[in-house]
Amino acid sequence: MNQTKYIFVTGGVTSSLGKGIIAASLAKLLQARGYRTTIQKFDPYLNVDPGTLNPYEHGECYVTDDGAETDLDLGHYERFLNVPTSQANNVTTGRIYLSVIEKERRGEFLGKTVQVVPHITNEIKDRMQLLGKSGDYDIVITEIGGTVGDIESLPYIESVRQLVWDMGENNAIVIHLTLVPYLAAAGELKTKPTQHSVKTLMESGIKADILVCRTEHEISNEIRNKLALFCNVKREAVIQSIDASTIYEVPNLMLEEGLDIVALKKLDLPKKVAPDLKSWNTFLKRIKNPKHTVNIGLIGKYVEMQDCYKSILEAFIHAGATNETKVNVISIHSEHIHEENIAEKFKDLDGVLVAPGFGERGIEGKIAAVRYVRENNIPFFGICLGMQMSVIEYSRNLLGLSDANSTEMNPETVDPVVNLMESQKTVTEKGGTMRLGAWQCEIKPNTLAYKIYGQTTISERHRHRYEFNNEYLTALEDAGLKASGVNPDTGLVEIVEIENHPFFIGVQYHPEYKSTVVKPHPLFVSFIAAAVQAKKK
Ligand code: GLN
Repeated sequence: MNQTKYIFVTGGVTSSLGKGIIAASLAKLLQARGYRTTIQKFDPYLNVDPGTLNPYEHGECYVTDDGAETDLDLGHYERFLNVPTSQANNVTTGRIYLSVIEKERRGEFLGKTVQVVPHITNEIKDRMQLLGKSGDYDIVITEIGGTVGDIESLPYIESVRQLVWDMGENNAIVIHLTLVPYLAAAGELKTKPTQHSVKTLMESGIKADILVCRTEHEISNEIRNKLALFCNVKREAVIQSIDASTIYEVPNLMLEEGLDIVALKKLDLPKKVAPDLKSWNTFLKRIKNPKHTVNIGLIGKYVEMQDCYKSILEAFIHAGATNETKVNVISIHSEHIHEENIAEKFKDLDGVLVAPGFGERGIEGKIAAVRYVRENNIPFFGICLGMQMSVIEYSRNLLGLSDANSTEMNPETVDPVVNLMESQKTVTEKGGTMRLGAWQCEIKPNTLAYKIYGQTTISERHRHRYEFNNEYLTALEDAGLKASGVNPDTGLVEIVEIENHPFFIGVQYHPEYKSTVVKPHPLFVSFIAAAVQAKKK
């Protein structure tokens, strides 16, 4: 295929309709038909990336191999497609403006007035075509964040209009995702919000080629006909997206509705083969028919909002499928854990994961959690801050360093067992300056880590500023907390574990970012296997 084809996905009526899942599901189907497909997301906010956002604002910050801090939808793209994304797959308005303003300062527009149209829109258009021009993809799906009609979405919508005009209708199409609400009092599904949102799109010069309609009830033929007529799309291009029990069901639902076929037809592309979803459906069958159930405590401070730990929750689903186990994740707020109530709170847990995080809030609860599971032989898995908490707990309770802490929480601590990395000491700016992205780790033989990974060199993704303080390494190892994985170049400790425990491992990196449907992460798989064993006992 010589020309890359483009599919733009816009959203109307409300946010949270699941544009990311629809984009990922369509991409999955196109990939399963043999098309090299990628997805990118354009977000209309002014932060240069979501790395500086509190998770309550925007959910989890997802990290790519190349160290981009990105929107959590990129996690869905990777989990569905099993193809890594990169910096180029997520662009915000902040990044667009930053780059245009930097060009202006360098004099690249010398003599000209710099304006939203054409300078911002040109920058958007260039970035929208970046992955397509790499030659690596047949089809690029672009998700436009936000809702049509928002002030901040306008430059994106205008850029899409221009690109469709430039490329021609068979090379670029628009899918509009809307809501068809059910009015219980009237007992009817309503099409008016969709009509209005399609009209708003048309006012910007964009005609939707395909409508994907989110709904809680089956959309009748009559309503499909009405939507087609009033929204000016072909009848076959009205696609129902009914609520599903799991997001992993959506590719099958879209296949039944023929979303991939309509898109290919509009793009003038052959259907090629029928999509091969064999391994996908094996996975689905496993999550729907579990043989075991385990309760996993997720100890964190953002537990009120599911999106804050998105990749961890999804990694549990992948690992559960491998173990034919339903993983009940029980979120426990770390601020509410004390020595007095912990036995009661943890009594039904078969495993405990202490979550990543920043800042002091809730850390004493996390430390208490590590102590409890260590002493009571409950499988433990610590990620990033969770791993650091296990180092503090071990130092306090087994080395007797009662003041042991991370300098992030207490800069004055007598025993900084976790401290700021050397490379961070000169860093003053907050955006994009953590130790980010993929780094190598050497695993020592005869360790739990080696048993889990089955190899000595691994690469995992990071997002942190603080680190195990190697001055305490010997003392901690002598006391039983082993550094089983270390970065070969810097000596930074990446994995800690203890022997004589059913399963106790902490990792400085974020394995959850690399777990996909096709390749569940081995750490999550082994942790769930350990929880299944723990429950049997
Ligand atoms: N706050 C810790 C650090 O910066 C842990 C970060 C995390 O959990 N992602 O090192």
